[in-house]
Amino acid sequence: ERLDELISGLTVDVPDHPEPGVLFRDLTPVFADGPAFRRVVEGLAAASASDPRAAALADSRAGERPFDVVVGVEARGFLLAAGVALHTGVGVVPVRKAGKLPRERIAADYALEYGTATLELHADSIRPGQRVLVVDDVLATGGTLAAAVTLVEQLGGVVSAVAVVVELSALAGRQRLAPHTVHALWTT
Ligand code: 5GP
Repeated sequence: ERLDELISGLTVDVPDHPEPGVLFRDLTPVFADGPAFRRVVEGLAAASASDPRAAALADSRAGERPFDVVVGVEARGFLLAAGVALHTGVGVVPVRKAGKLPRERIAADYALEYGTATLELHADSIRPGQRVLVVDDVLATGGTLAAAVTLVEQLGGVVSAVAVVVELSALAGRQRLAPHTVHALWTT
């Protein structure tokens, strides 16, 4: 079965969540299905491995993985990032909502439909020059992932790829992430 069809078949559309007029794509059944979750994790890891930018970075270190660490965005991104990290043998770093990380941290604000929100990253969690794969479950407007990328780059990390399970193409998040390429396992 094609991976995009596997994902779309397991995803449950929830109308009017979290507010009227929004069609929420619930991916929890994808995560709950063992074979599907495995293929999603492998897909995210492989998508980044095929990124031309990541490949160029890896060229200079032949035979190595195209990233040194995986960053996951709270909260569903944590599930995916941990899977990809274990699958590829690298570590995992959390980007969290404001107020959760206990030590010295950097912050990035991003726009929500109404108001703003803040994401944070521990200041010592990425070393300058480290190659970072950034993952989340859904790319909507791109504000969340753009903030995560900003945090990684602020610490000197090199974003080798951005990967998501689902891209909601009507919201044009991909443009917002430029010049980074977004790898989506299912675009709808
Ligand atoms: P963005 O910042 O790209 O507009 O929104 C992306 C963030 O909101 C992601 O962290 C994602 O988890 C969440 N999100 C937005 N829309 C959906 C959706 O339809 N389904 C799920 N599962 N998450 C969503």
